[in-house]
Amino acid sequence: MTILLTGATGYIGSHVWVELLQRSFDVVGIDNLSNSKIEVCSAVERISGKGATFVKGDIRDSAFLSQVFAKHSITHVIHLAALKDAQEALRNKDEYFDVNVNGVKTLLAAMRASDCHKIIFSSSAAVYGGKAISPMGESAETSPANWYGETKLKAEQLLRDEAFKLPPMHSVSLRYFNVAGRHPSGLLGSSSIVASLSLFDQIEKALKSNDALCVFGDDWHTPDGTCVRDYVHVCDIAKGHIDALKLLDEGKGFSALNLGSGTGRSVKEVISAFEAITECLLPIKVVGKRVGDVAVSYADCKKGEELIGWNPTRTLADICGGYLQGL
Ligand code: NAD
Repeated sequence: MTILLTGATGYIGSHVWVELLQRSFDVVGIDNLSNSKIEVCSAVERISGKGATFVKGDIRDSAFLSQVFAKHSITHVIHLAALKDAQEALRNKDEYFDVNVNGVKTLLAAMRASDCHKIIFSSSAAVYGGKAISPMGESAETSPANWYGETKLKAEQLLRDEAFKLPPMHSVSLRYFNVAGRHPSGLLGSSSIVASLSLFDQIEKALKSNDALCVFGDDWHTPDGTCVRDYVHVCDIAKGHIDALKLLDEGKGFSALNLGSGTGRSVKEVISAFEAITECLLPIKVVGKRVGDVAVSYADCKKGEELIGWNPTRTLADICGGYLQGL
């Protein structure tokens, strides 16, 4: 088995890479380095104690992909490369469609051409949108509240379609909720090049620069007025990919699985928990609501537990504590 890992040097990709190497899988990492740095490869090697095979390239480049498939005899793909900022997606709809939807199409064509029919896909809770009631299971209505979520849903549809072709493509779409935390080694974390307004990226920035972190609205219909989200540790997410490989090998066509903590936390609650655990005071400013945000989003993860035995083991305290190491 040789796994092609796209988005390998990104935040989640690098954690998945470490997890795969530590379990002795053969992995080829690719990334166009638009939102990550090549130095991540050395960190992955230091943590795993294994060589990290990396090729720089773009998932929309079919010539590049066919070279990689031919050279490395790829049997499985874990596809994380994408653009992920919901606000930027509204300003750059075509670019987001091109990477997140056309990129998947190009990748699937390269897989078929190389007789590779197994793929794990990084989807998102954003496919559900504002209509689904939390905790949301995988059968909840999918009605994205923003363009980013729409691109993820369109990519999932491409995977569903592939399951009906001959030979069928088998895929597991992992719908991550809000991924946070750092690797316990302190060597890996979110190293976004593009400025990120995710809560924990803002917390990390505030710790280093003392910039106030933005709370986007405090008059939502939630107990304390701030948005409620499901924060799940990046190492638990990484482990989810290993567990999902087994389902892929059972050859069940398309499956979607939530990866979340199963607990909803408000922005204010997370900030207070962070301050209590780390004894750091965070400067905050309340600003307007963002277009495309929803009030409450947290997961029902029973299906993942039943089908692949996945259970997150890290707590919010583990997530918060990890940011102190990075200072
Ligand atoms: P990230 O930006 O850190 O990683 C994505 C990587 O993909 C980056 O290294 C970037 O350089 C690369 N990339 C982008 N476009 C590319 C292209 N055209 N060709 C090759 N490489 C390309 O983001 P992340 O947080 O690690 O997210 C990984 C995946 O998980 C994405 O698909 C994202 O949509 C999804 N996701 C993330 C979260 C989260 O909370 N971070 C939640 C839900 C889903």
